[in-house]
Amino acid sequence: MSMFEHIQRVPGDAILGLIEAFKNDPRSRKIDLGVGVYRDDKGDTPILPTVKDAERYLVEHETTKSYIGSHGAADYGDLVLSLVFGADSEVLAQQRASLTQSPGGTGALRLAADFLRTNLSPRRIWISDPTWPNHIGIFSAAGIEIKRYPYVDDQNHFVFDLMLEALRQIPEGDIVLLHACCHNPTGYDLSREQWQAVLEVLRERRLLPLIDMAYQGFGHGLDEDAYGVRLLADNLDAMIITFSCSKNFGIYNERTGAFILVAGNKEEMLNIRSQAAITARENYSNPPAHGASVVSHVLGNDALRQQWVSEVTEMRQRIRSLREQLVNALDAHGLRERFSCVLEQNGMFSYLGLSPEQVDYLRDEYGIYMVRSGRASMAGLRSEQVEDMAAALADAVK
Ligand code: PLP
Repeated sequence: MSMFEHIQRVPGDAILGLIEAFKNDPRSRKIDLGVGVYRDDKGDTPILPTVKDAERYLVEHETTKSYIGSHGAADYGDLVLSLVFGADSEVLAQQRASLTQSPGGTGALRLAADFLRTNLSPRRIWISDPTWPNHIGIFSAAGIEIKRYPYVDDQNHFVFDLMLEALRQIPEGDIVLLHACCHNPTGYDLSREQWQAVLEVLRERRLLPLIDMAYQGFGHGLDEDAYGVRLLADNLDAMIITFSCSKNFGIYNERTGAFILVAGNKEEMLNIRSQAAITARENYSNPPAHGASVVSHVLGNDALRQQWVSEVTEMRQRIRSLREQLVNALDAHGLRERFSCVLEQNGMFSYLGLSPEQVDYLRDEYGIYMVRSGRASMAGLRSEQVEDMAAALADAVK
């Protein structure tokens, strides 16, 4: 009898199943709104020209593949910190922030979870309902209890007042996970006033914010999308940020992210930074180097950086334009009001307020694929498919 005999098979990731089902669907007019990967209007996920440039440079000039240390490359750390906090940030001037390069945003979240368990023995982490499902997996795997606060009601409205009320009830010392921008899966983000209200509750209740920032640049702009992060960092003496370069540099498979800690002062920052190095070492020793070298090369070169800003702008504007095209097309079916949420939401995802049965209907009848929560990855839509999509949605909700 094998030692593995008792181990049960579990269902695979729903998104991977969706990708497979889409690939096998023979219909030529099928539409893939499943996976959260940017696509251009041809349906491709190309390598950004600035990333290609940086890679060409690296092939020519890189001289070693030696280890880069548990915190990763120092230039990457400095450049990403200034992207997140802004070049003239007080937090950076006061040397209150530490960055540890991580294998993607997911790796940063796992570092955060392990760091918290080791150093703070937190009771709980409070996560929006709904959220990116991996948040639950990552923090549970690290042994942290998951609690939920309301975010969207069953009519698909952002319920900020209920969220704030729930935050007010959280016991002191607990952790609150917030999305910096482009909330996954709903696309509903906090306004400036709402960030301010959250800041006040965090301060009053002595809660520790953990901000997941996976889509900087995809909402309203690189600086605009960092508004909440910067507000909290300027006004609190402890917070955590998990950052991903997967989407805004389009380097999904290079696994490039950052685990950022903000402390009350430089001394405290150096203390917690030393702990972050141990957490990284115990997980995977050193992060992968290539993606971070690409990011540093792009951000560290004025011309390339400017070009990258335009590339991010183009991705953001394409998604914004698709949202407008879709709602205009739905108008012809008398559904502008019903789907006005699409224009309120930001970033890659739109929570359409569909039942699982309606999602199944769209797949079976029209070859339109999305996760059963009714989350559509908007960049999966091509302009030429907008009319089809609107007609299919009109049929599904009639
Ligand atoms: N956080 C959120 C909210 C995400 O949507 C994602 C990716 O989809 C991540 C983190 C992790 O991104 P990465 O691919 O860099 O691990």
